[in-house]
Amino acid sequence: MEKTCRQCQQAFTITTSDQDFYTRMAVSTPTLCPNCRQQRRLAWRNERSLYPGTCQLCKKKTISLYSPDKPFTIYCQDCWQSDRWDPMSFGRDYKPGQSFFEQIRELQLVVPRMAITIRNCENSDYAPWAVDGKNLYLSTGGFQNENCLYGMFPTYSKDCIDFIMPYQCELCYEVIECSDCYHCLFTQRCASCRDCYFSYNLHGCHDCVGCVNLRNKQYCWFNEQLTEQEYKCRLEAIQWTSTAIADYRAQLAQFKLTQPHVASEQIQCEASTGDLMKSCNQTDYGFDVYDQEQTAYMFDVRETKDSRDIYTGGVQCELTYECHSILQTQNSMGLNVCWDGNYNLFYCDHCFTSHDLFGCIGLRKQKFCILNKQYSEADYQQLTRQIITTMQAAGEWGEFYPITLSPFAYNETVAQEYFPRSETTVKTNGWQWHVPDPADYKPAQGDLLVCRDCRKNYRLVASELKYYKQFGVPQPELCPQCRHLARMQLRNPRQLWPRTCMKCRTTVATTYQPDRPEMIYCTSCFQKEVY
Ligand SMILES: [Zn+2]
Ligand SMILES: [Zn+2]
Ligand SMILES: [Zn+2]
Ligand SMILES: [Zn+2]
Repeated sequence: MEKTCRQCQQAFTITTSDQDFYTRMAVSTPTLCPNCRQQRRLAWRNERSLYPGTCQLCKKKTISLYSPDKPFTIYCQDCWQSDRWDPMSFGRDYKPGQSFFEQIRELQLVVPRMAITIRNCENSDYAPWAVDGKNLYLSTGGFQNENCLYGMFPTYSKDCIDFIMPYQCELCYEVIECSDCYHCLFTQRCASCRDCYFSYNLHGCHDCVGCVNLRNKQYCWFNEQLTEQEYKCRLEAIQWTSTAIADYRAQLAQFKLTQPHVASEQIQCEASTGDLMKSCNQTDYGFDVYDQEQTAYMFDVRETKDSRDIYTGGVQCELTYECHSILQTQNSMGLNVCWDGNYNLFYCDHCFTSHDLFGCIGLRKQKFCILNKQYSEADYQQLTRQIITTMQAAGEWGEFYPITLSPFAYNETVAQEYFPRSETTVKTNGWQWHVPDPADYKPAQGDLLVCRDCRKNYRLVASELKYYKQFGVPQPELCPQCRHLARMQLRNPRQLWPRTCMKCRTTVATTYQPDRPEMIYCTSCFQKEVY
């Protein structure tokens, strides 16, 4: 079925498996295209805008995802998770004549919010969404990392600086989408490599510079085989100044254009579309996902079945739709940050280990509640049926919360990274815009530095200096955010376009837009070329 997106007016397709899923979830077909739906969820995700704050319960200082001008009551994580306050005390009656989203907004304005979400981490106050980490700094998300600074979604990694999604990497700098790498600098999509520099898509290589698509090679220089001696001479001649580094990166970018790129990177996947996927079966539009079974429109999600439109999380998730950040959750829809064993949750925000909740915020271990008010099971079932009917009539049922309800300004969220919008556009749409604080743009003085690009102040922390020394690279001239955005530029968009393999002419779904200059090959042509 073809539909037109209510927001961007682009045509989009609803597949028969999409249709089956919507029937199963008892929702109508979406009114927004996959991209606009993605943007709407991302506008609820603040990963990188951090502010100094004060817990309004214990009065201690805390790092906060909420700027001081936000209307919310902020509790530090310890207080929020304690029994020293009762989220049920904010419970209220459902008002039949009013939009349900508006009623959620009214509740959102009074229930205290967790200043920042960090779980079981040590010495990692500036690492939102990190779990089981140690000594993390301005590193977002991820699981079991140690000594990682500046980046997003590391996993099982150690001593990494400036990265996007390193998996089991150690002592790496400026790596993007790499796994099992040791001492690699300025590399992307490399696996099981060590001592590789300025390289792209190497597997099982060591001691290579400027290489692309090599397998199990060593001592190569822009894909040319050297002797160990020649290689070492050339490596020693590298100056590692900012100019030299920029020059090698530019050379790599040029060289990449002469080598084929795989349309869609998938490992052990069946009948799936997307990119950077592993162990997926019948998964469409999946990006950075693994262990998926019949899912679609999934981003940074693992171990999930029969679900659609999820950004981050997973693990034993099933029958979930339109959620941001879920863990161990089944048969649920419209969730924002709901973890640790939930089922039958609808339109809930920060609810944990609960079931049968509707329009609730900040509940733990509760059941049969609507707008934080307790009901009997029978009353709960009856009233939720009534609310669903009203929401269906209002076009709210099956939709994620509108961006206007986001607790963050648009440019504080990940939406601005994937779907950048100007201040004018954001305001015209009725979304919030965060105005930068002029106090963050002072002239350089002492250890206070000024970003070469955006002029924002930044400081280097003691722990990073030893890594620059160890890597032999100069100190960065850009602030952490500009460095992050530069890395994001090197990634492919999380969108798919139909193209033809430039070798065999079969149709492929790829993250490379049709007007991009790269040579795009289907998986089998690419493998014949590379292996
Ligand atoms: Zn759209
Ligand atoms: Zn507190
Ligand atoms: Zn900057
Ligand atoms: Zn082909």
